[in-house]
Amino acid sequence: MTLPSVMCGAATWSAAEYFIHRYAGHEYAHNRNHFAVEHTRHHATTSYFASTGKKVLVAAVAGALMAPLASLAAGPRRGLGFTFGCLAAYAGYEWQHRRAHTHAPKTAYGRWLRKNHFHHHFHDTSTNHGVTSPVWDLLCGTHRPVDVVRVPPKHAMPWLVDEQGQLRGEHERDYVIARKRTRPQDGGGSSAGV
Ligand SMILES: [Zn+2]
Ligand SMILES: [Zn+2]
Repeated sequence: MTLPSVMCGAATWSAAEYFIHRYAGHEYAHNRNHFAVEHTRHHATTSYFASTGKKVLVAAVAGALMAPLASLAAGPRRGLGFTFGCLAAYAGYEWQHRRAHTHAPKTAYGRWLRKNHFHHHFHDTSTNHGVTSPVWDLLCGTHRPVDVVRVPPKHAMPWLVDEQGQLRGEHERDYVIARKRTRPQDGGGSSAGV
């Protein structure tokens, strides 16, 4: 494996993360592709994630196809590096996404990731498709800076509220719990925006 090939694989996943989410998950979700079905369910019930077994299977199949093709194209060292980089970045994305829903942020990056992603969930599902990076949203014109995220009570992440459903004080500068939309330009809501 070579470092550039690993980086190239990770960058490829970053693009896939954006385009799969945007097009398969939202813009072409009406064709009920498998990703759209799972993703729509995730938007409707934000604690829902497709099973880990299903994700491992998809990653294994993708890796089994990618490794020989990339090796043919660039040689085995670079081909395996590319495949490793792509799959490692995918695993990182899955971990970061799930943690965003289940655990409070601990770093500035974690805080940004959560605000960016929950804006996508609760304000406008046609923006901020990238979960781990804003790069593709910035390049494709779908990036929206996030100030305060308005979270419907029924979708409030467990780390965001206390036992009474009240917003925890440490998150007051980034979130509000609100039943109704207060800004008419916001779209999305709890659906997948399809
Ligand atoms: Zn999510
Ligand atoms: Zn989405």
